[in-house]
Amino acid sequence: MAKRIQFSETGTPDVLQYVDYQPQDPQAGEVQVENKAIGINYIDTYVRSGLYPPASFPAGLGTEAAGVVSKVGSGVTGIKPGDRVVYAQSALGAYNEFHNVPQEKIALLPDAISFEQAAASFLKGLTVYYLLRKTHEVQAGETILFHAAAGGVGLIACQWAKALGVKLIGTVGSDEKAERAKQAGAWATINYQKEDIATRVAELTGGEKVGVVYDSVGKDTFEKSLNSLKRRGLLVSFGNASGPVKGVDLAILNQKGSLFVTRPSLNGYVTNREELEEASSELFSLIASGAIKVDVSDAQKFPLAEAKRAHETLESRVTQGSSLLIP
Ligand code: NDP
Repeated sequence: MAKRIQFSETGTPDVLQYVDYQPQDPQAGEVQVENKAIGINYIDTYVRSGLYPPASFPAGLGTEAAGVVSKVGSGVTGIKPGDRVVYAQSALGAYNEFHNVPQEKIALLPDAISFEQAAASFLKGLTVYYLLRKTHEVQAGETILFHAAAGGVGLIACQWAKALGVKLIGTVGSDEKAERAKQAGAWATINYQKEDIATRVAELTGGEKVGVVYDSVGKDTFEKSLNSLKRRGLLVSFGNASGPVKGVDLAILNQKGSLFVTRPSLNGYVTNREELEEASSELFSLIASGAIKVDVSDAQKFPLAEAKRAHETLESRVTQGSSLLIP
């Protein structure tokens, strides 16, 4: 028997149970991975809470981990037992000791990148890749606004933007987080607990405002994000940490300057083997060169059995950067 996290109803972190289970052999085209470090992503809390409910119960949780290949199904080529790998975008069940993952979701891990670094950066790094390189292709010298800049996705975005010569203004929920975002390469920070976002953006840009806002906070920041955009600017709304944006009157985009809004997801940008390889090779080379560092503090590494505490900690807004579960 092995151990996993499952839940039988949506709700608070209390619904998460640490149970015994019998790992299944991988099907054709699948790879069984013995997880060594599991990435915790904010989306896992949406699945658990019922914002994005699972199709059936009991359900597993999590879509990202790094580990060692333990078995391969028929038809798998180029990956063999013993290989070090990382995956994201799997079916629910990465919060398991063993998980079967379609081959096309898996990347071989360069020796220079540890399991913990990989699980802390793969899904979040692929996300930053498509946000900064595809949804809106940022240019050197451009100023952008990025919310929750000291979070898991946020700290990678600060470093990636710096590497591209982009001036990232990062919003954060505390002065400590502002310091962390600046260390990671943010050009400026706004503590949105004390400062008005749009006013500060206007001040920092000499009245011009920004051409693109990346907003994963959702409900609480939607209108503030629109107010931070220059004419014909783009709001990239890619998450709901404060709750989903609902009931928008599209006329608001006209009133605030012929603005654009998009609501993208990783699954719409990294959809096949070729896109995964392009995205992961850019990410891995930035990590290998040291341009992107993904250090997870001991306080944010939780034993798998303590997934409940990990979710409580993430949702309480005290974390900086990524958090991990260790089987
Ligand atoms: P984070 O580590 O960024 O944690 C979420 C952060 O959101 C918090 O630390 C907090 O930072 C901020 N926040 C603002 N308001 C609230 C609130 N009311 N409750 C809780 N947190 C709040 O998480 P991740 O790095 O895992 O993910 C970041 C975001 O990116 C999430 O919204 C996630 O859904 C989204 N995402 C979207 C993807 C996509 O393809 N669409 C893919 C991956 C992630 P602070 O205290 O500084 O405000």
